Amino acid sequence: VSTPVLWTTVSVARAGLARRTASARPLVLVPTMGDLHDGHLALVRAGRELGDVVVSIFVNPTQFAPGEDFERYPRRLQEDLEQLAPLGVQAVFAPTVEEMYPRGESTRVEVHGIGDPLCGRHRPGHFVGVSTVCTKLFVILRPRIAVFGQKDAQQCLLLHRLVRDLRLDLDLVFVPTVRERDGLAMSSRNRYLRGAEREAATVLSRALAAGRGALEEGEREVAGIESVVAAQLRRGGADVDYAELRSVPDLDHPARAAGRMLLAVAAHVGKARLIDNLCVQVEDLTVREAPLLDEHTPAAVRARWGVADEEGKESTT
Ligand code: AMP
Repeated sequence: VSTPVLWTTVSVARAGLARRTASARPLVLVPTMGDLHDGHLALVRAGRELGDVVVSIFVNPTQFAPGEDFERYPRRLQEDLEQLAPLGVQAVFAPTVEEMYPRGESTRVEVHGIGDPLCGRHRPGHFVGVSTVCTKLFVILRPRIAVFGQKDAQQCLLLHRLVRDLRLDLDLVFVPTVRERDGLAMSSRNRYLRGAEREAATVLSRALAAGRGALEEGEREVAGIESVVAAQLRRGGADVDYAELRSVPDLDHPARAAGRMLLAVAAHVGKARLIDNLCVQVEDLTVREAPLLDEHTPAAVRARWGVADEEGKESTT
C-alpha cells in the first residue's frame, strides 16, 4: 500500500486528470473536510465500487459562520493520507484556501429555499458556502459521480437541487450514516467531546428513536413528535438548536406527518455542536426507515452505471 497521489493546486489536479485515458472508469469525487473517520471511509468504499475515486480534503472557510470552529477544526492531512492508502484511491485533492478562493474573488452559488430552515437558520451563510465550494470542486475536477453522507441530509437535498437546477452531468450517491456502537453518528466534531460528554452525546440518536417510537404508536401531529424529541434532548442535558420533522425533498413543514419525512436534530453537547437525523416513510398505519432519496442510494446508482452489486450479480435495471 502506498499513500495516494496528492494534488494541492488546481493546475496540478487538472494535469493529473488529463492523463486519464478515455476508457478509464468514471471519476468519483468524495468531498470531505478531512480528519477522516469510518463514515468518510464508507463513502470512499461506495465510490470505489463505481469508479476511480478522488477524495478532496478542504476545510472550507465560507461554510463556517462567524464565531464557529473554523480555526480549531481538526486538520491532520498526514493521518488522512495513511488512512486512505489501503483503499486504493486515485488521488487526494487538498488545496489551500487561496487556491480555492483566489485573492479578490467574489462569486457565490446560492440555492434558494432548501438552505433556509434547520441548519441554515442556525448557521447563517453555511449553505451558500457549501453550494459554492461543491460547485467549485465539480467544475475543477469534473467528476461523473459524487458521494455524500446522509448524516448531512439537508446538504444532500441542497446538492440534489443544485445538480438539477444547473443541469450538471453528475450522479449523486447518498450513503447511510455510519454510527459508533452506542448509536452516536460519527463526526469529526465528536473529538470536541470531553469525559462524560461522550456518553451524553448518545442522546441525539436516542431522541430520534423516541420520535420514531411516537410515529410507530400512531402519532401523526408533527408538533407532537417534535416535542417528544426535543424533550428527550433536553432531559439528556443537550442544548437544542432544533428538533424538526420535515417533508422530503422540499423540507416543508406540514402539520401532519405523511410520506417521506426527515426527522432532524441539532444540539450542543459541551463544546460540540452535533447533528443527526432519521429518514422515514410514513403511511397511515406503518412507519419504516427509508433512504433520503431512492434514486441516490448506492444500490440505485450502481444499477444505473451497470456495476455488479454486492452479491456479484450484474444489475439488470
Ligand atoms: P465532513 O468532512 O464532515 O464535511 O464530511 C464529508 C462527507 O462525509 C459528507 O458528505 C458527510 O455527510 C459525510 N459524513 C460525515 N460523517 C458521516 C457519517 N457518520 N456517516 C456517513 N457519512 C458521513
